Amino acid sequence: MNAQPLGTLYIVTAPSGAGKTTLVHAVLEREPGLALSISYTTRAPRPGEVDGRDYRFVSREEFLRLRDGGELLEWAEVHGNYYGTSRTWIETQLQQDRDVLLEIDWQGARQVRRMFPHAVSIFILPPSLEALEARLRGRGTDSEATIARRLAAAREEMRHVEEFDYVIINDRLERAIDELTAVVRAARLRLPVQKRRHAAYFAQLLQE
Ligand code: 5GP
Repeated sequence: MNAQPLGTLYIVTAPSGAGKTTLVHAVLEREPGLALSISYTTRAPRPGEVDGRDYRFVSREEFLRLRDGGELLEWAEVHGNYYGTSRTWIETQLQQDRDVLLEIDWQGARQVRRMFPHAVSIFILPPSLEALEARLRGRGTDSEATIARRLAAAREEMRHVEEFDYVIINDRLERAIDELTAVVRAARLRLPVQKRRHAAYFAQLLQE
């Protein structure tokens, strides 16, 4: 793939309980020309999840076949399941000048950053550790052991916050939506991006 594809890649990472999915979907509705990557996963669909909309649900065998065939841009094992990003889909979007948002974990974020040094990475934090615990307790139907495991996993994810370009603290949803939108818009105004989008104009401006 070209070192500098046309579109911009945004990586959004968060521990579960930070409200990432709601935030991302609100920004996708606001920002035209921004597409969400639908990952492959080997985990079972949760109630209400739709194949091809939330994830592409595949068997372990199918996942390994995709991985070994080079179809995954990045992949990781999270909570005992495999997750991965489709390489062909991403490359097509970027080459067609569309921006792509990836909702992936810190391991995937590392792999993508290595391949796309210009990718813009954003970490979503919950407002506090207490708020995170309250959110993870949810409806109160889970055992203490399950809650403790989720909390430990979230803490582990948050240890990687320093690897990211931007941090959004999801205290109030409306503000967090504004902040994520601001990051996307600022990235779209970077000089190399503007020069590519408005090549003829720049050629005129910069001619001898
Ligand atoms: P969940 O099963 O709750 O939807 O997601 C679990 C974790 O897997 C989340 O942290 C999510 O960001 C991550 N994840 C989802 N899709 C991908 C992917 O394609 N690649 C990687 N590396 N992580 C993913």
